[in-house]
Amino acid sequence: MNNPRPCYLQIAIDTPLNAVFDYRWQCEDHDRPAVGQLALVSFARREVVGLIVGVADETDVPVDKLKDALAVRSQLSPLSQKWLALAGFAADYYQRPLGEVALPGLPKNLRVLTTVALDRALKKLAKLDAPHDATPADMPVLNPRQQAAADVIGGAQGFTPALLYGVTGSGKTEVYLQACAQVLAREPDGQILILVPEINLTPQLEGNIRARFPGVMLATLHSSLSEGERMLHWLAAHQGKARIVLGTRLAILSSLPHLKLIVIDEEHDPSYKQQEGLRYSARDLAVWRAWQLQIPIVLGSATPSLETWHHAQSGRYRKLELRERAVKNAVLPQVKLVDMERDKPKDGLTSQLVAAIRQRMERGEQSLLFLNRRGYAPVICCESCGWISECTRCTSFMVLHRPEHRLRCHHCSLEMRIPRHCPTCGNVDLQPLGRGTQRVEEGLQALFPEARVLRIDADSTRKKGSAQQAFDTVHRGEVDILVGTQMVAKGHDFKKLTLVGIMNPDTALFSQDYRASERLFAQLMQVAGRAGRAGIPSEVLIQTRYPQHPLYGAVVHHDYDHFASALLEEREQAALPPYLFQALLRAEARELATAIEFLSMARDCLAQPGITINDPIPMTMTRVHNVDRAQLLVESPSRPALQAFLKEWMQVLRSMKSRVKWSLEVDPLDI
Ligand code: ADP
Ligand code: ZN
Ligand code: ZN
Repeated sequence: MNNPRPCYLQIAIDTPLNAVFDYRWQCEDHDRPAVGQLALVSFARREVVGLIVGVADETDVPVDKLKDALAVRSQLSPLSQKWLALAGFAADYYQRPLGEVALPGLPKNLRVLTTVALDRALKKLAKLDAPHDATPADMPVLNPRQQAAADVIGGAQGFTPALLYGVTGSGKTEVYLQACAQVLAREPDGQILILVPEINLTPQLEGNIRARFPGVMLATLHSSLSEGERMLHWLAAHQGKARIVLGTRLAILSSLPHLKLIVIDEEHDPSYKQQEGLRYSARDLAVWRAWQLQIPIVLGSATPSLETWHHAQSGRYRKLELRERAVKNAVLPQVKLVDMERDKPKDGLTSQLVAAIRQRMERGEQSLLFLNRRGYAPVICCESCGWISECTRCTSFMVLHRPEHRLRCHHCSLEMRIPRHCPTCGNVDLQPLGRGTQRVEEGLQALFPEARVLRIDADSTRKKGSAQQAFDTVHRGEVDILVGTQMVAKGHDFKKLTLVGIMNPDTALFSQDYRASERLFAQLMQVAGRAGRAGIPSEVLIQTRYPQHPLYGAVVHHDYDHFASALLEEREQAALPPYLFQALLRAEARELATAIEFLSMARDCLAQPGITINDPIPMTMTRVHNVDRAQLLVESPSRPALQAFLKEWMQVLRSMKSRVKWSLEVDPLDI
């Protein structure tokens, strides 16, 4: 028997301090902890779970400063070197300490002090037989384009990024599934990661995957799982039992020791970008992960992001195209523009749109009205003195929610009863201004008393499972008119839907955000794509005051190609992404001046050639929940130059020890 002797564990901890900490651990040679294992340590007078990133025989830390690790979670097999490298890359790229990336990427139950939950999950998983039959059930015959795409993806060796560019309803899902079938058949232990933008899209896809691969284990990973479920699913992936992992952006950091293919559905979707904490792009990390593992990755969309389109045009990504709808006789809907100057809307609806809905009612078909604004009206106002319902804590308005009899701020969640009279002049006649989904629903109900109207938005689907219930009602055909926000725009395959009305998309045309038109186009194409999927002729009516606008022209012709080329040209001339790389430094404080002062200091503390640092400005929505926010944009035509600058800059900023709360976002989407 050997005597225990100390080794030294380098442990990454979830803290903003940019460091890895050394701990001592007594062990015998044969049970030395491994890199990638988790350990319980005491840190800053707390006990926390950290990640072992190095094991050494010596340490520079003086003996009197050195603490013993409290426990090593030996029942959990170590995270792989590749996984550590992925977390390391994300940490470097997004300029965060490794611990702040790696640990929050793990299920919460792995980071608690006791191992009760872990042990329970391991036991449960050990009892689960991992089925091992990758034979797919009834595969539909692909059309030649689909087959070609599936073969490229499924048969690819090595790093092969591909854009699957297919119009809505072209059968991209079927291509993914058949590519998956090829990979599962070829790689006896191979795992596949499928990312989707939002959880309300998953049930349909999850059902399809389960039905197609009844003999393999599927694990889902998304934020609406309970911690217990998440732990179990994460472990199933980590142990290699789950051959397919279906998840939202957070699943990109899951441990998949035998990952052989990555699928990203609706790759253009902004929800792949985490907008708080570590502001990473799951899509970009996925491409890096595929490169790291030298495996194929497919990015699917009808309206690819300009970044991805740029790569496909330049040949860095393979471009696989599906130009037609997959279902026999299904054609893309006819898109028409309704000029709101000529056909003046009543209750938000032009007579053409009303007539089109009536026609659908008579034929027993479904209509969808799309309006990206929930609530009854975005604001209420007093017509005699001009008072409007502003939020007292934010640079925004209190939205009227009539069914709930409340005013609500959508930014800080401040709520109040609807005032009976104007708070400034006492006038009792307060009027709603503008229109949200609740008001549209009310108008439709008045106009079509016999219609079954259903509203689907964040308010109507607050209860767990209620979104799914609502969608099921639509699928069963128990709804005539569906009113909804972007929640209904994506992914759903509504068979009886033959009319889409888009209420008022114009505001995005004149946004100062240069990405607004790219987003509006994608959104219109997505929502338009809900119509006519089962082969019944269908139309999309867009109500607008600017029917001449080229963006609408491109939507009418379903012409993403030209639209994207024109936008890319504009971006190149204006030196904007993807021809330029950006990072955004944000600061927040009680007083705007404090935030601006901090950013000015940041602007002046470091200069490097090839790096442009703009002046600090208040954010468009300056105040949220009584905090003022400002930002500073850093730009460079070279990504490596920007990365090098940021690294140095962060060190300087961290050493400034300012009391202002600040954060950095690399590749920001909203500027
Ligand atoms: P997308 O994701 O491209 O919008 P989907 O994958 O939802 O399209 O497919 C649209 C419809 O076409 C679905 O109802 C699907 O079952 C059907 N479909 C896909 N491929 C085929 C095929 N080869 N033959 C017949 N129907 C198909
Ligand atoms: Zn008033
Ligand atoms: Zn507010």
